Formats: sequence, structure tokens, C-alpha cells
Amino acid sequence: VIKCRAAVAWAVGKPLSVEEVEVAPPKAGEVRIKIVATGICRTDEHLLEGCFPSADFPVIPGHEGAGIVESVGEGVTSVKPGDKVIPLCAPQCGECSFCLNPESNHCLMSHLSEPQNLLPDKTSRFTCKGKKIHHFLWVSTFAEYTVIPEYAVAKIDAAAPLDKVCLLGCGFSTGYGAAINTAKVKPGSTCAVFGLGGVGLSAVMGCKAAGASRIIAIDINKDKFAKARELGATDCINPQDFKKPIEEVITEMTGHGVDYSFEVIGRADTMNAALASCNMNTGVCVMIGELPSGSVVSIDPMLLLSGRTWKGTLVGGWRLRDSMPKLVSSYLEKKFNLDLLITHTMPIAKVNEGFELLRAGK
Ligand code: NAD
Ligand code: ZN
Ligand code: ZN
Repeated sequence: VIKCRAAVAWAVGKPLSVEEVEVAPPKAGEVRIKIVATGICRTDEHLLEGCFPSADFPVIPGHEGAGIVESVGEGVTSVKPGDKVIPLCAPQCGECSFCLNPESNHCLMSHLSEPQNLLPDKTSRFTCKGKKIHHFLWVSTFAEYTVIPEYAVAKIDAAAPLDKVCLLGCGFSTGYGAAINTAKVKPGSTCAVFGLGGVGLSAVMGCKAAGASRIIAIDINKDKFAKARELGATDCINPQDFKKPIEEVITEMTGHGVDYSFEVIGRADTMNAALASCNMNTGVCVMIGELPSGSVVSIDPMLLLSGRTWKGTLVGGWRLRDSMPKLVSSYLEKKFNLDLLITHTMPIAKVNEGFELLRAGK
């Protein structure tokens, strides 16, 4: 058993509490990882607010991390102690019917099918003050050590800087992959990205990498525009600067609407606006943002009747165990720049300040 620090969420709506926790050794098929760096994604905030589907408290959040294998359980063959790895918030068991479908990246072991608040044998490896602590998406990267099933771990290049590639664990891969894999943005096309947090900015990077000729970036926080431009946005607009609905503004700017739109906020009104902003014929709208579980969004069915496509993405459509080593190599080959997405770096003791910065749009 390892004693280490972790940020524990004891109850919905409470700040995280940095505690000493005990982390049990990995059982068969599991890997214990020393987490070196982790990002904060809005999805962690959804968890703290109690809006994430089938989550149990107390829990150790975090799902965008990178680390080094400390020890492995019986039967683990794909990684060994000392390997650099990225924990996967969407597993790839490689054996279920979804994994066997080459067009799918949604493993039947994922949280949407099977809650990942406990490890697959329905027990936890974390305790704190004598209490069982739940896992989050199996990865719980807000702990200095965590235990994860082998099929939710990807070995990466030993040269990878863990404080940068941790962003591949969720935010970057989601936004970039939504453009490349889910929308399949074509060269010369037009795109609109609603919401310029870490995930939305990554979607801007994906549209640019795919060769889009026009990328319209939309946010109510003007401070996001400089970085969006640096990453490839050609137009930056704030819906609050217009009297008419933003979908009308975008339709006028582009003639008939963009070819691809992305909702990267997690609101019903902006999901409708993003859908109506892509052209009524072949437009594709990708929903990335998450609404509180159980929410219902109403849309005018005419928006789809004329041919538009409305789809969602799970971590950008990547089969993460296969793709993660390649994404890390692409980063090391400077095919994209993660460093620009990093706004602040702080120790785990200041995790609540990190969330304050997220809430303040900084
Ligand atoms: P973030 O909070 O950093 O960014 C959201 C951005 O939206 C902010 O810049 C904010 O100013 C802007 N915004 C808020 N309200 C707006 C409005 N009414 N109009 C225009 N802009 C508005 O969040 P993030 O970490 O980038 O995550 C974005 C969303 O993606 C979240 O809902 C998160 O849960 C979700 N997400 C989904 C997946 C997936 O697999 N589908 C993965 C990661 C994150
Ligand atoms: Zn599977
Ligand atoms: Zn995330």
C-alpha cells in the first residue's frame, strides 16, 4: 500500500480537499501509476457540481493525466514499471463487439455503458481516513498514485514531457479529434467553433490542420480571441455584440451557413445555435459539450429534415489505446502545439485555485 496525497471530493458542491490517501497494490490485470501531471477539464467541474451521470461520492476526480508505471498486477503484459503512460478516460478493451467494429471508439467498458466509480471487480483501491473512496472514470488523476485496468492505459514515448502530453488524455484529443475524426473536416471548408476553452481551442487546431479555409470562433469571453487567432481562427465573434441570434450572423457571414459546426460549451441554447449555423443541406454539427445528466434539448426537426447531420463525439473519436502513442509522436514531431493550451501550472495543493481559474474563464 502506498500513502500519498490526493484531491478528494467528499460531497457534491464542496471544494476539493487535499488528503493523505492509501492506494492499494494493483490486482490482476491492473496497473498502478505515479501521476506526474494532470489537466483540469470542465468535465471534472461537472462531476463536482453533481451533474455527471452515475457518479458516486466521495471520489477522486481528474481524467487528463500522464505518469509512470509504478507496479503491475498479475497478467499485465503491455506495460512494465518505469514506462511512461497516459491513463485513458475512454478504455479500449479490444474484445467487445464495439471495440471489434473498426469504425467505433466506444468500448462497452466505458462509463456510459458500465459506471467506472469502482474498478471492474467492483472494489476500490483508494481509502482515506478509513473510508472507501470512489474512482472517477477509472483514472482519478488527482491522486499522486492511481490504479487502472490495463485496457485503460496507453504506453507512450519515453521522451514525452508528461507536463505537456497530459493534455492528450482528454481536452486536446477531444477537440482536435472532433474536427479530424468525427466531422472529417475537408480542405477549403468553413467551420464554426462555439466555446474557446481548452477543448474548443483544440477543435480550432483540428479544423486548421484539416485545411479549413475559414474558422469562425465564438465565445462570450473576448479574452479568448487572441489565442484562438494564434491557433487558426479567421474570425472571432461575441454573440453579445449582436442583436440578432448568432446563427443568423454566421449564416450571413457564410452565405448558407458553415460546413461544420462544433458546440464546445455544454448548453442547450448554444447546441441549437450551433446546429442552425451549419448549412441546411450537407452541414455537420458535432456536439462536444456536456449538459447535466438527464437534460433534454428540444430542436426544430426541420433543422435535420433538410439534410443536416447532428452527431456527438466521445473523446474526439479516437480509439485511444491505439491512437495515444501516435498522438504523442505527432506532438514530439511538432505537428501540433500543446504548449499554447497551458495557461497556469500549480501544485496539487492549489487544485481549488485551478478550478477558480476555470470558473473565471482564465
Ligand atoms: P471551458 O469551461 O474551459 O470552456 C468553455 C468556453 O465556453 C469558455 O471559454 C466560455 O467563456 C464559453 N462560453 C460559456 N457560455 C457561452 C455562451 N453562452 N456562448 C458562447 N461561449 C460561451 O470548458 P472545456 O474544458 O473546454 O470543456 C468544454 C465542454 O466540453 C464541457 O461541457 C466539457 O464537459 C465537454 N467535454 C466533452 C468531452 C467529450 O468527450 N465529448 C470531452 C471533454 C470535455
Ligand atoms: Zn471494448
Ligand atoms: Zn475531459
